[in-house]
Amino acid sequence: MQILLVEDDQRIVDFVQRGLKAEGFNVEVARNGMEAIALGKERKFQIIILDLGLPDINGREVCERLRSLEINTPILMLTARDAIHDKVTGLRSGADDYMTKPFAFEELLARIEVLMRRRGGEIKTDIRELKIADLILNGETHEVRRGMTTIDLTPKEFNLLECFMRMPGKVLSRTRILEQVWGYSADPLTNVVDVYIRQLRRKIDDDFELKLLKTVRGFGYKLDAS
Ligand code: CA
Repeated sequence: MQILLVEDDQRIVDFVQRGLKAEGFNVEVARNGMEAIALGKERKFQIIILDLGLPDINGREVCERLRSLEINTPILMLTARDAIHDKVTGLRSGADDYMTKPFAFEELLARIEVLMRRRGGEIKTDIRELKIADLILNGETHEVRRGMTTIDLTPKEFNLLECFMRMPGKVLSRTRILEQVWGYSADPLTNVVDVYIRQLRRKIDDDFELKLLKTVRGFGYKLDAS
């Protein structure tokens, strides 16, 4: 998986590059618009993350030029501004999605996945199948199995499990889970996380000797095989 990151802010370059590399992507960086267009012409990328504010020509123009060259790679545009006007003109110039800075890495990752999925079977990645012990989640077919047993999950349960499987062994707080699975608009006082954890546990753990989904009192939950 090759990703082109077009960004002149070193802190954001570091943050995004580090995160994406850890997820198994190869990241190429362009520091300005002309460099991005040159790289886009000579190489094939699966996703382009494009900052709107660049030192030479702006991200919108880069986007338009890439599209006029018939480079149809999905483009995720980044901007410090959150004005609706920027969003509309960004999308009109040919971007596929749009994200406002500052952003959480998880959100970036989620958007990249949506863009890849939209392209259908065109892109094969090796991060689609996640595995912990005998529990396997396939992000493409949405199939979940423990050993030979297929497990039926609702879309929300699936997202919840995926969220844990992306970060094996890591304790996730209720707030973090709520944000990741239900989004920012979710009521922080709701007990929906606990309800779903119970359901998920029933499906992935109850019938198996090795319990994977664990409660860490006072902190949250984690998924691990130890
Ligand atoms: Ca910038």
